[in-house]
Amino acid sequence: MSYVDRTVYLTRDSFSMGDDVMAPNLAKYTWRDTDYSPVTGINMIIEDYLGLNLPDFFWRGFCNGQKIVDVEIVREENGFSKKAKFVENWQELLRDSRIIHFVHKGHGHENEMPETIDSNYYSYEEAEAMFTEYPRNARDLSDGSEYSKRGLHFAITGRDYIKLRKFKIQHRKCYSGMTGDQFTYSFTPSGLGEAVTVSCSCGQKLLLGNFCDYEAEDYDPLKHPVMSEQDRQNEAFEKAIYSLLIVRKPRLFRIGFLTDQTFEGIYAYACGLAQNADRRFSASVLSKTTYKKNGRQMDNYETCHTDREKIDLFYEYFIKNIEKELSSYECKNEQLLKLLKEETQSFDI
Ligand SMILES: [Zn+2]
Repeated sequence: MSYVDRTVYLTRDSFSMGDDVMAPNLAKYTWRDTDYSPVTGINMIIEDYLGLNLPDFFWRGFCNGQKIVDVEIVREENGFSKKAKFVENWQELLRDSRIIHFVHKGHGHENEMPETIDSNYYSYEEAEAMFTEYPRNARDLSDGSEYSKRGLHFAITGRDYIKLRKFKIQHRKCYSGMTGDQFTYSFTPSGLGEAVTVSCSCGQKLLLGNFCDYEAEDYDPLKHPVMSEQDRQNEAFEKAIYSLLIVRKPRLFRIGFLTDQTFEGIYAYACGLAQNADRRFSASVLSKTTYKKNGRQMDNYETCHTDREKIDLFYEYFIKNIEKELSSYECKNEQLLKLLKEETQSFDI
């Protein structure tokens, strides 16, 4: 095997009826030993191969019958943890064979693990042949996609793929319909890169792609919790607030409504938003009139002489109330909080 060939095959012994015996969970990956950190690369491959959809096991990987790595997978509330310990000359072993075969034992039985296995278990050539012969049972992750198809196809690969799988584990208990339609994917190619959004049925979203800084960030389970009914309500509430705040700028109002900004325009828009938001929103809108106990009407804007003053009073009241509501549940919507801060500062001037 030459250095130019960067393919590695991974196989593992079968332990359930669902496993395929002919092509034993064969997967094809790309590993570059010339990479900046070859151990990170192989770690990601192993994590992808053993970390998901398998019970907790203690695995030992062999190259040409020689032990190359011990891997311990422990499942946790928000995913799994993996401990991998490589032998000192692992790179040499892998370079020579370019195939790792994993055997497993349950936790507590690590000591029963063999030190060597029959070196004829699977050779690279056999793996390659199996891969060609049983492509339906094999996964090709070497070019980032499973099987090449004609036509347009989108892929989630590399770090994104690992993030996606962590997201899926965290959301494994969310509602999945009769046809398993739990996740939806949207791919948006643009001049700035590709934005990928994965949405779970609970409403939580995972942003992937090389758009903005998504790529550089690690998966953070705290940012992707399973959403409750209350979370969804808060999200709708925050969306409505954002929509109303943004049109405070006359220029943006004009873009949105194709007419000049007026108090009446803003008021009507707020009433429309209130219909789809919960009580907290409408309670934050200063209505034109209030009915007092004695049945008399009170004009809440009577101190205002101009449209501008009405708009300012309207937003002052709105923001004061909204801030109270948002702080009561520790809103984490950064985009909204930033806008809110800008607006509050504009009052101080
Ligand atoms: Zn979910």
